[in-house]
Amino acid sequence: MRVYRFPKLFRFLYPGAIWEFSSPDIYLTFDDGPDPETTPAILEILEKENIKATFFCIGKQVKKHPDIYQTIIEAGHTVGNHSMTHLNGFWTSNKTYLQDVLEAKKHISSKLFRPPYGRIRLSQYRKLKSMGFKTVFWSIVSYDFDQPLPGNQYVAKMIDYAKPGLVYVFHDNPKSRQTTANHLPLIIAGMKKKGYGFRAIEQELFS
Ligand SMILES: [Zn+2]
Repeated sequence: MRVYRFPKLFRFLYPGAIWEFSSPDIYLTFDDGPDPETTPAILEILEKENIKATFFCIGKQVKKHPDIYQTIIEAGHTVGNHSMTHLNGFWTSNKTYLQDVLEAKKHISSKLFRPPYGRIRLSQYRKLKSMGFKTVFWSIVSYDFDQPLPGNQYVAKMIDYAKPGLVYVFHDNPKSRQTTANHLPLIIAGMKKKGYGFRAIEQELFS
């Protein structure tokens, strides 16, 4: 049984973090890039649909593909820090975890932070908050990296979950390439048909 919605129960643990917005729009986010095949495919879809989104980049990937990172920014999308090497906070010492985020900060100019796997200890969360990072979780996880549903059911499910202000996580990594590139246009079309607009997460919101 897959849980697509972020459980509300955990939200009180991380005061000040973001799961959704008070906004009529949907926020599409893409984690783990830049990836030389997946990211350009997603950028093309977003451009065609005239949508701005947010890319939570891995520092290591930005270092490998600085040109793609630049393309994301030049296209008017926003970026966030998704750590340098994608560590699971639950299994990582605070010192190592924070160093990893700070290393990524050298490559990614953003105070938005999304913890890899959504796994971050409270002590790590508090420390990053005190350093000015704004942690952004998500409302809906798409499982685009390992999607067992047939395409049409998956698309319908993503559209069904849509509500004003929700934050969706997709991935621009090799594992999700087929699912995301093939289904994203239909998901966006379905949401537009229901009357939704789309918006990137602006870090200025939190200044
Ligand atoms: Zn990730």
